[in-house]
Amino acid sequence: MMDKETADALFDLSYGMYVVAASHGGRKNGQITNTVFQVTAEPPRMAVAVNKQNLTHELIAKSGAYSVSTLAEGTPMTFIGLFGFKSGRNTDKFAAVKHDTGQTGSPLVLDHTVSAFEVKVDLETDVGTHTLFIGEIVTARTFGSGKPLTYDYYRRVMCGKTPRGATTYKAPETKEPKEKTTMKKYVCKVCGYVYDPAAGDPEHGIPPNTPFEKIPEDWVCPVCGVPKSEFEAQS
Ligand code: FE
Repeated sequence: MMDKETADALFDLSYGMYVVAASHGGRKNGQITNTVFQVTAEPPRMAVAVNKQNLTHELIAKSGAYSVSTLAEGTPMTFIGLFGFKSGRNTDKFAAVKHDTGQTGSPLVLDHTVSAFEVKVDLETDVGTHTLFIGEIVTARTFGSGKPLTYDYYRRVMCGKTPRGATTYKAPETKEPKEKTTMKKYVCKVCGYVYDPAAGDPEHGIPPNTPFEKIPEDWVCPVCGVPKSEFEAQS
């Protein structure tokens, strides 16, 4: 495992937040990534690093193309949770998301997006846990005037976490279990969502002023879908 200073120094690298998506054989999927970058200008080429275990990896490898949608500042955590913390193997991530089919057949996410690209892959580099998919940009679109969401803003302001398996994942330091106190806020260890008992989770049937302990056992994190057992009391 990498040492803390390396991990901290790596978090000083500036990144954006994107949905990378692809489609093959009638199946489409997308995932959140921050590791997208332009590699050349003439012609304009891009690269993305994708974990080999992800469904999106399989779809990019088979179709030879992908789309990149640049997320806007103000993108809700639930949207990031859908693309970043849920697997396309058991969720149709595009079911309730506005999207378009691009020239290459890749789905382009239109919700919470400031711009979008399509890339035709002409070079794949195996970098270990991930594959680097490199290729020429075949289409690019811009939408409106929103600000692109940065990885730093996501982590600091939105308190967002990074899923295991992401290029920039860093294992959390283990903490001593805390005493359970009524009406304490609870944090999802997976995605960083904070359950505030004063607010409850009315969208999922939990009225305001419900202590965490009183939430039914089948309730799941509204952002990433993990059970109550993945929450810990906030210090
Ligand atoms: Fe969560």
